[in-house]
Amino acid sequence: MNPVFADLPVTVFEAMSQLARDNNAINLGQGFPDDPGPEDIRRAAADAVLHGNNQYPSMMGIPELRQAVAKHYAHWHGLNLDPMTEVMVTSGGTEALTASILAVVEPGDEVIVFQPVYDSYLPIIRQAGGIPKLVRLEPPYWRLTEEALRAVFTHKTRAVLFNNPLNPAAVVYPREDLELLARFCQQFDAIAICDEVWEHVVFDGRAHIPLISIPGMRDRTIKIGSAGKIFSLTGWKVGFVCAAPPLLRVTAKVHQFLTFTTAPNLQVAVAYGLGKSDDYFLQMRRDLAVSRDRLASGLKSIGFPVIQSQGTYFLTVDLAPLGLNETDEAFCRRIVTDYKVAAIPVSAFYEEDAVTSVVRFCFAKKDATLDTALERLSDAV
Ligand code: GLN
Repeated sequence: MNPVFADLPVTVFEAMSQLARDNNAINLGQGFPDDPGPEDIRRAAADAVLHGNNQYPSMMGIPELRQAVAKHYAHWHGLNLDPMTEVMVTSGGTEALTASILAVVEPGDEVIVFQPVYDSYLPIIRQAGGIPKLVRLEPPYWRLTEEALRAVFTHKTRAVLFNNPLNPAAVVYPREDLELLARFCQQFDAIAICDEVWEHVVFDGRAHIPLISIPGMRDRTIKIGSAGKIFSLTGWKVGFVCAAPPLLRVTAKVHQFLTFTTAPNLQVAVAYGLGKSDDYFLQMRRDLAVSRDRLASGLKSIGFPVIQSQGTYFLTVDLAPLGLNETDEAFCRRIVTDYKVAAIPVSAFYEEDAVTSVVRFCFAKKDATLDTALERLSDAV
């Protein structure tokens, strides 16, 4: 069997969700909201199922959605994307990442990834024959540094995979860090595969800055987005890839043999959703920030050192100052069985030199869910 996949454990998100089900626990592990998502967008999908096309849509995605993506990014980020040659629809962000990595990476290429690293990146780089070069980001700020980049970029660097906003650390990178990364990509002629699925989930007036918008990056960045995260409909698995034609063309060749296409009715509904007014997106951010603050203040009052969350559905706590004498993984196993609350150990996002004291909680939940979880955790530390 293929050694890249044969010995891999089931993903930490699935494993923790299973443990949550087995223990009848509140699941603050895997990142998904516990409300059903915007009703008008779900209705648009239902209408399209009943009255629209249910046969294969075009391999690149329905034109309506590709135009809506281009228009959405023009409006929010001033990007000028040609919907027909620079936008493709995928079955979720994970497929978009896999297609992009397989398109760009050749055997022997070095690919820079940042730890904490989302769990799908490394196996796919290895499947492509790439050699991952790991950069370890440090809590509590997880910023990029010139020194760290200088240590990994070489003439063998083919690509860098960058997740911004960063899951699980909940960082929204400032322009300064993006410019630093852009400078290295240009100096070493590297392609940036930028996982921006959390682009709309940013708090406290922060703006997400797409790496592709940084001068010099337009033709060397593959930008990945996800309707699941934008509209809190994580099970829909509708993603987008935006890139200059030479990059998108090859990514599309991979996509055609991964999933070929994506449910047409969901594409129609996402196209509708992307046209919603700014108010919708700003209100979503405000609502999620209220949930973040509710969980953060509850955890603080129990005694957890909470690290600030700038974006995503997640906040992290650092167990180190508590002197618990247990790893993040042991802590997560203990709270799911003893307190019936599931969370994710951040060490699962490391391949080496793991940070083993940080735990991720998902706050994209109803108030009652968060309050019950907090009650259950009240004597956990
Ligand atoms: N992105 C989600 C998270 O970080 C997990 C998605 C998945 O389980 N594949 O929780």
